Amino acid sequence: MSTTHPIPSAEEMIRTAGLRVTQSRRAVLDALRDNPHASADDILAAVRPEVASTSVQSVYNALNDFAAAGLVRRIEPAGHPMLFELRVDDNHHHLVCTVCGAVRDVECAVGHAPCLTPSHDHGFRIAAAEVTYWGICAGCADAAS
Ligand SMILES: [Zn+2]
Ligand SMILES: [Zn+2]
Repeated sequence: MSTTHPIPSAEEMIRTAGLRVTQSRRAVLDALRDNPHASADDILAAVRPEVASTSVQSVYNALNDFAAAGLVRRIEPAGHPMLFELRVDDNHHHLVCTVCGAVRDVECAVGHAPCLTPSHDHGFRIAAAEVTYWGICAGCADAAS
């Protein structure tokens, strides 16, 4: 699954975000590019063959730095490990399969961010909306029938 926009090199992205480029940061960013909605464990597994010295802690450190710099978005579907992705600030939503845990991106439901207009805002100034659609993916539905 690739993103809809062409993205600059991992190095460029890290530098643009104002962070120092290190081997493990670059490997983590590359892993995220190949695996949208990856957990820290997924990323560690992808990075390890390249950077043998990588630890869970260094993956978490890189992810936290990226999140703080606005490079990655964290999503936390209930009952799943925290997932990370490079699509930020576009208010997209997620479909999550309740059987296999597959995650897919979906654009905002209809038109221009309608979900930013809740039926009642309780006086909040709304900045973002996160919607998770739960269901069964096509693969799991096929396997069940
Ligand atoms: Zn599934
Ligand atoms: Zn996403």
